[in-house]
Amino acid sequence: MSDIQVPEKPTEVTHLIKGKWEAGNSESYSVHSPYSGSIVGEGKGADSSLVDKAVTAANEAQKAWANTPLKERTGVMFKLREILLRDIDKIAKVVSVENGKTLGESKAGIMKGVEVLEYAISLQNLDSGAKMEVSRGVFCEYRREPLGVIANITPFNFPAMVPMWTLPIAITLGNSYVWKPSEKTPLTSLYIGEAFKEAGLPNGVLTILNGGVETVNAIIDHPFVKAIGFVGSSKVAKLVYSRAAALGKRVLALGGAKNHIVLLPDADPEIAGRGISDSFTGCAGQRCMAASVLLAVGDTQKQIDAIVTRAKSLTLGKDMGAIITKEQVDFLNQAITRAEEAGAKVILDGRDATAPKGFEGGYWLGPTILDGVDPGSEASKVELFGPVISIVRVESISEAMKIENENEYGNACSVFTTNGALAEKVVSSASAGMVGVNIGVPVPREPFSFGGVNHSKFGHGDITGTNSLNFWSDMKKVTTKWESQKDSNWMS
Ligand code: NAD
Repeated sequence: MSDIQVPEKPTEVTHLIKGKWEAGNSESYSVHSPYSGSIVGEGKGADSSLVDKAVTAANEAQKAWANTPLKERTGVMFKLREILLRDIDKIAKVVSVENGKTLGESKAGIMKGVEVLEYAISLQNLDSGAKMEVSRGVFCEYRREPLGVIANITPFNFPAMVPMWTLPIAITLGNSYVWKPSEKTPLTSLYIGEAFKEAGLPNGVLTILNGGVETVNAIIDHPFVKAIGFVGSSKVAKLVYSRAAALGKRVLALGGAKNHIVLLPDADPEIAGRGISDSFTGCAGQRCMAASVLLAVGDTQKQIDAIVTRAKSLTLGKDMGAIITKEQVDFLNQAITRAEEAGAKVILDGRDATAPKGFEGGYWLGPTILDGVDPGSEASKVELFGPVISIVRVESISEAMKIENENEYGNACSVFTTNGALAEKVVSSASAGMVGVNIGVPVPREPFSFGGVNHSKFGHGDITGTNSLNFWSDMKKVTTKWESQKDSNWMS
């Protein structure tokens, strides 16, 4: 039995503008809980006039925020950390209800957000700039400056964590932040917005605009918006990247993924069984870091048996959550059938799974393992985004890496082995931005940055950690010479 309770009445989804929650004025939408299928939220998007009002207020608020010393800005983040930890159960319930995660997964996402927050707090000590006497009496200095108003557009699959990758860092650096959450999971934003307000963030420094494509385009096009961060599918990442770049804006758009795991015959069956099963079933496979293709090199049957045993033991609603929409469940069911028709064997079939008691109206699919998948087929190449893993049998590491290298994405790749030299062979030849050794979900932890390569990322840099600082700010280079040194030198 699941410990989730889906509220009977829908919450009104509003917009946070200059510190006040306001109703929308554009297209209407409903939010369905993947647990029950029932409506848990209703709202209207923001059209260009409402976006203009909000962004103009954000621009005004940014000036005073930028003039607030970094140490004072981090004071708000200290307070925010306390509030998020105090309210973690409450926020996790909202994440689960609107997204379908288990409560444990929802809490873990918030904790990762808190880790980013801690990194942002540490900037007061880490990021003191640099100053040096480069010639007699001449000093060069770095000053980090905010960009102004920046925007972030986020996906449904991590309603709290993905926004928290950027909220603490971009705001601490002195920007005003406009957030456009996914219209499939906007409810969490109401709680995060309240937490920032309670922490004492000045009105207008955080703006939340809920809605769909119209709202996104109005935000990108607004002349006050200087930089855009995006996380979502590659198709939309490319659209957002192109639109923003054509306007001369700074943009970093993270896209989809098809992550490969290279399984070697010497891998520890227990570690591989647990790590690989948890990777493709965690968050019901709706993670951009989820294992999607298992490149099984040689005789790895005992490790594969361990993966099947663990995946089979999971109970829906308790160990694994639901799928975001009914359409996505239908798509996954059809993709499994197409894989079968293309010659794959379904060695664990999630289509037969029973919905948890009381949640029969929800969107469910059990863990599914496809064996003998053709490397050129849909199941091996297309991002399915569900608890489905495709096993491609290969003879050698070189054959495995050829398949991995040829895939269009480049988020994650992992290897399971007990041999360091073989692990290094995979690590150094993987065409992925984040690589793991005996780790199913190789998410870098702060201060190490998060970001893929190839079609998993459009733009330059990473979205969290050290590599994100130069995206959310400019470095002003100041060279100073005072009276004490009057002679000229080669710089004069
Ligand atoms: P999505 O691309 O459908 O939506 C993401 C955001 O874009 C939402 O806020 C949505 O409202 C907006 N949007 C949708 N269509 C748009 C359009 N035509 N123009 C402008 N904006 C539009 O993604 P999703 O379904 O919410 O999330 C799942 C996808 O996100 C998967 O592909 C997953 O791999 C990817 N993802 C990637 C990362 C990463 O770090 N690379 C992290 C999380 C999720």
